[in-house]
Amino acid sequence: MKVTGRCHCGQVRYEAEIDPAKVNLCNCTDCQMLTGSVFRVAVPAPAATYRLLSGQPRVYVKTADSGTKRRHSFCPNCGTPVSATADTDKPETYSLRVGCLDQRAQLPPRRRIWCKSALGWAQDVSGVPGVEGQP
Ligand SMILES: [Zn+2]
Ligand SMILES: [Zn+2]
Repeated sequence: MKVTGRCHCGQVRYEAEIDPAKVNLCNCTDCQMLTGSVFRVAVPAPAATYRLLSGQPRVYVKTADSGTKRRHSFCPNCGTPVSATADTDKPETYSLRVGCLDQRAQLPPRRRIWCKSALGWAQDVSGVPGVEGQP
């Protein structure tokens, strides 16, 4: 499936091919902090299909507790997380942030990972009362 994505301010735009069956919801604490939210939803795209259409993301190299380094790309203007790759100039895959994809409504997560660090309340908010707009 072809997807197109952009950061919030629109400087960074990209496209790629993804498999909707590979959408993950990650509950790890790094994803909680790096998104400023309570989990991240991401999908891998083969590097051969990833094309940066505009902008030049900045890169933050994250070192996990395990020592593994990953390059996290974000818009230098608005800070939106765009993608992450292995710590190499020739990555095999780009992990795209589903919230930035125009097709995100059709990309529900197919599995949850790092469930041990999941915030319990974040796994089901369907019982939280809904109000329109900002209360
Ligand atoms: Zn931006
Ligand atoms: Zn994570």
